[in-house]
Amino acid sequence: MPTFEYAPAPESRSIVSLRESYGLFINGEFSPSVDGRAFKTISPATEEVLAEVTEAGPADVDRAVTAARKAYEQTWSVMPGRERAKHLFRIARIVQERARELAVLESLDNGKPIRESRDVDIPLVAAHFFYHAGWADKLEYAGYGPAPRPLGVAGQVIPWNFPLLMLAWKIAPALACGNTVVLKPAETTPLTALAFAEICQQAGLPPGVVNIVTGAGETGRALVEHPGIDKVAFTGSTEVGKQIARACAPTRKKVTLELGGKAANIVFEDAPVDQAVEGIVNGIFFNQGHVCCAGSRLLVQESVYSEVLASLRRRLATLRLGDPLDKNTDVGAINSAAQLAKIRELSEVGEAEGAQRWSPPCELPVKGFWFPPTIFTGVSQAHRIAREEIFGPVLSVLTFRTPAEALEKANNTPYGLSAGVWTEKGSLILWMASRLRAGVVWANTFNKFDPTSPFGGYKESGYGREGGRHGLEAYLDV
Ligand code: NDP
Repeated sequence: MPTFEYAPAPESRSIVSLRESYGLFINGEFSPSVDGRAFKTISPATEEVLAEVTEAGPADVDRAVTAARKAYEQTWSVMPGRERAKHLFRIARIVQERARELAVLESLDNGKPIRESRDVDIPLVAAHFFYHAGWADKLEYAGYGPAPRPLGVAGQVIPWNFPLLMLAWKIAPALACGNTVVLKPAETTPLTALAFAEICQQAGLPPGVVNIVTGAGETGRALVEHPGIDKVAFTGSTEVGKQIARACAPTRKKVTLELGGKAANIVFEDAPVDQAVEGIVNGIFFNQGHVCCAGSRLLVQESVYSEVLASLRRRLATLRLGDPLDKNTDVGAINSAAQLAKIRELSEVGEAEGAQRWSPPCELPVKGFWFPPTIFTGVSQAHRIAREEIFGPVLSVLTFRTPAEALEKANNTPYGLSAGVWTEKGSLILWMASRLRAGVVWANTFNKFDPTSPFGGYKESGYGREGGRHGLEAYLDV
């Protein structure tokens, strides 16, 4: 039983001034689309319409690519690295200055708790720009030869789970290396990308260096298939990633794909249980589980299974679900009706396949899209909930007896984005880390991100790395 109740602590949304409608950001200005099409973006927590956003068609994408090409040839690629760095530093500082506004806007449009957008997303956005600003005049020391060249125009398509952070992962390295970009944010979360367009204006970025085209999947397709693009960077589902790989295969475009995951979070019997439980909760309930590297498969050593499960259930009962703008909220809204339907469907499949479903007592708001934190026990390797990315607050629990069995089960997945290992033994951490087929392996922690550290997948989780020195390679002609 909780010892006290929390009073509501909502963050004020008055710091955000929403426009009724937003144009496309092309060549440094907001402009309407050629055919006048638009769509609405809503708050997933309340279903309130936040703004109308322009839908870019192929002619608009073409305008954006042309603007990016001109800026690449006439301005950005010929500008000395130290001058490009100044622009990136300026952007980073404006992001910091406008951090509160950006955090509120992100939570409104995406549904994620303000605590996460304020303390994780936005600080990491600034960090990515600061970090890459530092590289802009030092590329010759990055290990890619004495004068590495940019690629040209990058077409970048990002998902809705970390809207502004994924934009930063894409735009910061591209600009640091001397490329220009056309970026398409996800249909359900365009607002922080449009605020970023304003930041580019505020920072005095030359017109055409960054272009933002809003729209749905068709806009993304028009962008990645445009013949004027030299580089495609995509984060999203494995299914769309495969389509993009097929479309780009016969072209000279350089491609990086950051796709789905089904990460194993592995708890050995000597792990500190309380710490591991915090890591499990952070691994799967952070950002409602809308995380490609989420620890969605918990592998627990049989000898500590009961203890870990009891502790995990106790901890889940303390999670607070509700208003994303409330500073005490741990679990916010599911990003869209479509995503909620997918989470519900896979959870029903889990039950039908014989796994046991459990959620703590939890009142869901009437309006908006919500799903309670959920654990499935009695899950086997063959269950769909152990194999498919649910992309929601749903944890599948499996057990193992030996490190070899844990490794076998962890690697038995078509994905390979991340993994977590919880144990006191350094030798076991190293043994596991060197054998896990995952791009990132966290030891006694989970979901830790840093711009200096490369991130990316094995197998169907994609190819290419983002972040760190390795991430520069994706934007250089090497
Ligand atoms: P998508 O892969 O469809 O969306 C990612 C981005 O690609 C969005 O901007 C989307 O536009 C765009 N897009 C869609 N179709 C195309 C296309 N043919 N060519 C180019 N761009 C395209 O993911 P969804 O949002 O539909 O989510 C579906 C599932 O994908 C989720 O349930 C989850 O399992 C997984 N997912 C994984 C992510 C990850 O980081 N691993 C991130 C997001 C989703 P728009 O949103 O406007 O349709």
